[in-house]
Amino acid sequence: MENYDKLADLLLPDVDKSPADYEALYPPRGLPEGARVTRIAPSPTGYLHLGVLFTAMCNKRVAATTGGVFYLRIEDTDKKREVEGGIADIVGGLTRFGVTIDEGFVEAGREEGAYGPYQQSKRGPIYRCFAKELIKQGLAYPCFCTEEELAAIREEQEAGKIRTGYHGKWARCRDMAYEEVKKRVEAGEKFVVRLRSPGSEENRVTFDDGIKGKIQLPENDEDFVILKSDGIPTYHFAHVVDDHLMRTTHVIRGDEWISSTPKHLQLFRLLGWKPPKYAHVAPIMKEENGGRRKLSKRKDPEAAVRYYIEAGYPPEAVIEYLMTVASSDFEDWRRANKTADLNAFKFNLKKMSVSGALFDLNKLRDVSKNYISLMDADRVTGEIIGWARDFDPAFYDLLAADPAYTKAIFSIDRDCPKPRKDIAKWDEAKTYAAYFFDGLYTPCFELPENLSAADAAAALTAYMPVYDPADGREAWFQKIKDICPGIGFSPEVKEYKKNPAAYKGHAGDVSTVIRIAVTGRRNTPDLCSIMQLLGKERCMARMEAAKAAWQA
Ligand code: GLU
Repeated sequence: MENYDKLADLLLPDVDKSPADYEALYPPRGLPEGARVTRIAPSPTGYLHLGVLFTAMCNKRVAATTGGVFYLRIEDTDKKREVEGGIADIVGGLTRFGVTIDEGFVEAGREEGAYGPYQQSKRGPIYRCFAKELIKQGLAYPCFCTEEELAAIREEQEAGKIRTGYHGKWARCRDMAYEEVKKRVEAGEKFVVRLRSPGSEENRVTFDDGIKGKIQLPENDEDFVILKSDGIPTYHFAHVVDDHLMRTTHVIRGDEWISSTPKHLQLFRLLGWKPPKYAHVAPIMKEENGGRRKLSKRKDPEAAVRYYIEAGYPPEAVIEYLMTVASSDFEDWRRANKTADLNAFKFNLKKMSVSGALFDLNKLRDVSKNYISLMDADRVTGEIIGWARDFDPAFYDLLAADPAYTKAIFSIDRDCPKPRKDIAKWDEAKTYAAYFFDGLYTPCFELPENLSAADAAAALTAYMPVYDPADGREAWFQKIKDICPGIGFSPEVKEYKKNPAAYKGHAGDVSTVIRIAVTGRRNTPDLCSIMQLLGKERCMARMEAAKAAWQA
């Protein structure tokens, strides 16, 4: 067909700007050499997925460590899959996890930056302008094939063992005469716009992936759809137009897009634009039954970012952990730079796993325990109260009733050289602190095997009269040692070890008895501090109850 201009006007009459207008509207960014422009481009189709947070974090690191820009673009071309509040969930989630957005949707409902709109559903005229340009150049054409016709083509291809798709002689509408197109458009027939691919399957395209290295794939020969019948672009076309006009330098995205990259490179070339550097992130994997599989939105609750919020993992701990998943040299760096800002870490895409790094909740727990152990009492208390307010109102009421008491609970064995690592997430705080609240405390009088109930009762009988809540740690323990000889225990562990047959146990065993009586647990933070906080009356009552149970 000769007159492509006429065809372009017939198909897309409403385009009122030229490509040059858009080039002028969105000029190159003028950032310093080496500064990278990256983005995350999620669809608002429900909760924020861990994989999106992970990829966003990598993009953010690349931008932040090069003095570049990280922006958020919403890919909402599929209105059927959209969920209300989807944008707020994405922006809120990323921000909460410290993946702060420099440009684009910085808040749900608030866009910032000179390269917008940052929502694809608002960019219709832009896509149509560039689709029209391709039509004018004979590089795109309308296709009227119905679903049924496309299914019939596919069936025929499958029967003949031919590669399926709209390519070569199978591209029926490729050479439709202008008059025919006009007739059908005027009759109101629906059409899509397809690229007229100049590619051949025989040729290879090569690109240097920022994570996976050199990748070679067959050139695209498919006349794939660029605009759907409602004028909305496909991902392929929107990606190329947006990342060009938003001046993205690095497209770091999920590796499910690798096989489409030849299409994207082809589009960049046909539009006369320089492609970005691609880096394809392998999915986060999970170990299961000795094998590995992708973390699944459907099967794994931990695939949703909400999971970490609801469980009360500190966002910083989640990011610290995800950095260890993302970059094989992060842990070493962190060991050497314990308190350094994340921006000081030189994130290198080449250190990312090519096949998919393993996600390990136990390791996340360890990272988080460590992170929480280093928080001061004020912070921990504030975080726990904040978490409980949102997720456990009954616990919140207990904590808020006496803030000084609450803070004292979470101050024990904190802000010291060797803080304990009991709590990995805030939903564990209630169990951790249960014995401090009569309403939560459940006594448990189970003794370790080496201690008999009679000996335990005798220990309490000896200890209760000498217990003085005013004693400091040393005096407290001295009292325990002092009662040992009278009840057949050794005050010193060393002595006991030399001659175990001579004793019923040692001073440590006596404190275990007291610990179980007062807290219902064998393992707690410093017992002297716990007893001081519980107060004499409560401690005595609990010891009394334990003694009675052990004497029975
Ligand atoms: N909307 C696409 C996705 O969520 C974006 C991929 C990309 O980063 O280009 O997979």
